[in-house]
Amino acid sequence: MGHAAAAMAAPRGGVVPPAEGDFLSESDAAGRQQVRFWIRTTLGMSFVFLALDLSVLPGPGVREAALLGRLGLVVPLCAIALWWMRRPRRRRLEATAAAALYTLSMTTTLVLLAGCTPFNPARSLNVFAFGTIIGHFFMPNGFRLPIAYTAVSLLLGEVLTFGPALGDPTLGVPAEDIVGSHTAVVLSMLAKLRAGREARRSFLLGLRLHERAVALTRSNEQLRALSDTDALTGLANRRFFDAALARAWQGRGEVGLMMIDVDHFKLFNDTAGHPEGDRCLATVARAVSGHVRGHRDIPARFGGEEFVVLLPNTGLEEAAEIAERIRTAIAALRVFHPGRVGEGFVSVSIGVAAMRPSAATPPSALVRAADQALYAAKAAGRNRVVPAGGG
Ligand code: GH3
Ligand code: MG
Ligand code: MG
Repeated sequence: MGHAAAAMAAPRGGVVPPAEGDFLSESDAAGRQQVRFWIRTTLGMSFVFLALDLSVLPGPGVREAALLGRLGLVVPLCAIALWWMRRPRRRRLEATAAAALYTLSMTTTLVLLAGCTPFNPARSLNVFAFGTIIGHFFMPNGFRLPIAYTAVSLLLGEVLTFGPALGDPTLGVPAEDIVGSHTAVVLSMLAKLRAGREARRSFLLGLRLHERAVALTRSNEQLRALSDTDALTGLANRRFFDAALARAWQGRGEVGLMMIDVDHFKLFNDTAGHPEGDRCLATVARAVSGHVRGHRDIPARFGGEEFVVLLPNTGLEEAAEIAERIRTAIAALRVFHPGRVGEGFVSVSIGVAAMRPSAATPPSALVRAADQALYAAKAAGRNRVVPAGGG
């Protein structure tokens, strides 16, 4: 197979997996990190809160309750959760655990505040509102979790803020404080949901752009391969050969070239018809590319029933050996020649030349030399290889 054809047959880029799955897996790692950070912060802040509890909370039994709640409940549960998450668990479960621990910490504070005498409902309302909003900052993006978390926080907030004040008409919170804090909590949740949606949207947008770029690159490659390929034989075409020769001419090593011409091909066409002639050319082309040295040599269709093989870093003798291999292989195919010339089978004549590139000599000199050798091969009776300078 020619180089250009080989490029065309190269495996395509990986299949793009479903966008949704991509988004989940990409946001997965970030989300897990965030969940662990949330729990670590909850754990660490427990000690700060405990210090505050012990220094400012009045009332009998409140300090003991603080010690029990913080050190006996929140801290150990956070530690257990972190230990449990040393291996990745189900995403949703991890996030729910983190939200639950955070809510537990907030509840502990609210319970302690409820146990204080005198009870200060405005302070509880503040703790509830701030605590809930800060939770929104910590939690990973999602839809169900922010809603469930906010709902639970609101419920606990109502019970622990207004519950202790029930039946005590002296304990009141101004209506504007209640409306303000609740509005803030709900707005914060809506912002969180919006942020999650935006993250997903911008990810999908980026993915679509990436897919388009990949498709464009792929079709560019295919176009380039097509523009370098001869349609009939699948070999590289003249354009590709000219460029390859020019490239080889930039080097220092000797460049070998063989010029292959099918013998009495006009007669073949005239007798068997053009379509059969086309098939014969494809067969010859396969034999040529099947007997060069892998990716090192460059076979191409030069035009009509003429082929070339460019042999970088190859001297005349070695090039002639490869040419002989190709000639023998084509003769051995015993493709019937309807013109009954020669031995009755399709044969080729090959002219071979080799030159060391120099600034003074254009690469066309090499082509001319191979062509002259080919002419000599024809003159000497066809079905043979003639090296330049020989005959
Ligand atoms: P020689 O042995 O001296 O090379 O004789 P020849 O008949 O092969 O040489 P000539 O150059 O006279 O004929 C070449 C023929 O190749 C003429 C043309 O019909 C045929 N040919 C060129 N391109 C194609 C092609 O793409 N398909 C077919 N079927 N024939 C082609
Ligand atoms: Mg010819
Ligand atoms: Mg010919």
